[in-house]
Amino acid sequence: MAGASVKVAVRVRPFNSREVAHNANCIIQMQGNTTCIHNPKQPKDSAKNFTFDYSYWSHTTAEDPNFASQCQVYKDIGEEMLLHAFEGYNVCIFAYGQTGAGKSYTMMGKPEPEQHGIIPLLCEDLFARVSTNQSPDLSYSVEVSYMEIYCERVRDLLSPKSKGNLRVREHPIMGPYVEDLSKLAVTSYDDIADLMDCGNKARTVAATNMNETSSRSHAVFTIVFTQKRHDEMTNLDTEKVSKISLVDLAGSERADSTGAKGTRLKEGANINKSLTTLGKVISALAEMQNKKKKSDFIPYRDSALTWLLKENLGGNSRTAMIAALSPADINYEETLSTLRYADRAK
Ligand code: ADP
Repeated sequence: MAGASVKVAVRVRPFNSREVAHNANCIIQMQGNTTCIHNPKQPKDSAKNFTFDYSYWSHTTAEDPNFASQCQVYKDIGEEMLLHAFEGYNVCIFAYGQTGAGKSYTMMGKPEPEQHGIIPLLCEDLFARVSTNQSPDLSYSVEVSYMEIYCERVRDLLSPKSKGNLRVREHPIMGPYVEDLSKLAVTSYDDIADLMDCGNKARTVAATNMNETSSRSHAVFTIVFTQKRHDEMTNLDTEKVSKISLVDLAGSERADSTGAKGTRLKEGANINKSLTTLGKVISALAEMQNKKKKSDFIPYRDSALTWLLKENLGGNSRTAMIAALSPADINYEETLSTLRYADRAK
């Protein structure tokens, strides 16, 4: 879709060992940018097709034309968003999908360099570009924050003391923000890598203490990238500030499919509320873009997640979504619902 502000990719992960042990069948096929899913209970010719900007395959060999390494996914999506950030746009990349479908793998990846996900690769690329773009009239600054949103409450992952109840406020010019959230200045990729490690550990510890898994919260890693240019002739400074939000969303599985009760059910409802609101916001924006409509009601305020991402989703921003899919027949319903969610963002 030419000129669309939301780039949409889907990525299917390999079978996990449990699926292999159960001889799971693969219900996903990909060709070019089309992803096809078939209902394991119906004939294969009743399959449904969805077309996205990218359809990524990962569980056979690298010779498969749809196979995409971590590096490839970064090149297609992360790099493009980073270039937009250098142009001064706010950008947002988020990963959507059921727990275990590959969101964290895509966003964060694993410690081995060739398995680094979008977040570390983008941070590395940011500093590499800054170091090759040096000139006496240019200066850069990079600040990062890392937070978790759980049941509409915000926890600072870079401050060990954060109790998970930071307030969301609104600045008249800068828009919504989290009061008292740590914003740390960094000057190298290693600085960021250390902070990411601390944040990821804090996330796991908090989840364990609450007897939960981190799949129930949204993790938002934000980079505020400022480029300042000094004009010798006029002696004036101009500043381009862009906010890069990289979001690993909570698992999209429906509360009713996991037999949730009590707190779990409420939590499920909250998670679903932010994911549903995010879906509404993204499709309203996509519709506005497609119809070239000027203004429409966008329900940002309906969840903490969308409210905080307001400046990264609408207006002067570029958004990419990666929907993570399981290949296995047992996940048919969830996978189909992920594909539909992704389809609405186009
Ligand atoms: P989620 O964050 O959606 O809950 P994870 O990212 O933790 O899921 O993925 C579940 C498992 O599948 C992890 O062990 C991860 O390494 C593996 N995995 C996910 N996507 C891929 C992929 N594209 N290639 C290889 N392994 C993957």
